[in-house]
Amino acid sequence: MQPENPHQAKLLASLRLHGPQSAAEMAAQVGLSRSKIGQELQRLEDLGFVERAGKAESRGGRRSGLVQLSGDLRFVGVDIGATSLDVGVTNGRLDLVAHVAEDIDIRSGPDVVLRRAVELIGKLRAEGHLPRIDGVGVGVPGPVSFRDGYTVSPPIMPGWDRYPVREFFLKQLDCPVLVDNDVNLMAVGEMYCGLARSVGDFLFVKIGTGIGCGIITGHRVLRGSNGSAGDIGHIAVNDGGPVCSCGRTGCLEAWFSGAALSRDVNALARGGESGVLESMLADGPLTAADVGTAMRQGDPHALGLVRDGGRRLGRVLAGLVNFFNPAMIVVGGGVATGLGHTLLAEVRSELYRRSTPLATSNLPVVLSELGENAGVVGAAALAGDHALGVDQT
Ligand SMILES: [Zn+2]
Repeated sequence: MQPENPHQAKLLASLRLHGPQSAAEMAAQVGLSRSKIGQELQRLEDLGFVERAGKAESRGGRRSGLVQLSGDLRFVGVDIGATSLDVGVTNGRLDLVAHVAEDIDIRSGPDVVLRRAVELIGKLRAEGHLPRIDGVGVGVPGPVSFRDGYTVSPPIMPGWDRYPVREFFLKQLDCPVLVDNDVNLMAVGEMYCGLARSVGDFLFVKIGTGIGCGIITGHRVLRGSNGSAGDIGHIAVNDGGPVCSCGRTGCLEAWFSGAALSRDVNALARGGESGVLESMLADGPLTAADVGTAMRQGDPHALGLVRDGGRRLGRVLAGLVNFFNPAMIVVGGGVATGLGHTLLAEVRSELYRRSTPLATSNLPVVLSELGENAGVVGAAALAGDHALGVDQT
């Protein structure tokens, strides 16, 4: 299903960004006459894209009915991480109506992982959450050729290079399928449902095993000429430093990421300078999450790791802010959530110190509120955009 003309696509895009509206509000938004709007909305209702949604606030005159995207539409978001697989279902308004998650190992290869994803979709269908499927969005933790629907030389995903991810789903499911990098999709999720709601130009920084950045400009994902835009983890912070997964030295994510934190915290614990870390090591090797735990217990060494990391990230973000002038920076991903406001404070102070006052005069730097749902919601949103004719290419 697709809108029949550009007017309908504009109306759907407006509902997507601004939520339920009256016909008068939409007329102002998209610049069409009231009668034309009424006609196109009726058609969109007949096609199943939109539904009536009660009355708007009275402004003295007659109360006008609100229109919203349909609650009957069903979009599936598949969020494939390095160690996790999430499958979620949303309606047309991106309300998450069902969500299943389980541990996987991306290194077990695309056949195993994608088959499991299709099984989970089948499970959600069997439970009654998917009376229909209007589109599927798939996020993978590596560079993607968006047009071709496959992964391109993903460093942490052996066996996935040029694997036809979209074809795999198309063979099993009778609906449109779109594939994108997971960070881009988290950014789309934030744009529609998170703190960046309705913000046209912003950066979404994900700190997980590595570091990546989704770039939203004019409400659209900027993917670059080869789909690798936003790969900020490999921006050089200096000439030396630890060796990165890409083989070079000095990359941001070699200094600060989930992998770097777990390397550094284990070295600190084994070094024996911190009693807190040393005692935690008795339960097995430490992870990035343990850095947050030790920091909250007042361990100065763990705090030092977070501050150093925040400063390095802030330095890279300062360059991006001077270049791109975003209206907001949203920081998310499992590692960021665990380190919380201590990390954010450090990032902010370095960022504001190193950016031009004009670029940072009104620049919120916030933690993602969507948290672990950002990926599935964003993936479903990408599929929804396609169905609603909202251009995300
Ligand atoms: Zn690197």
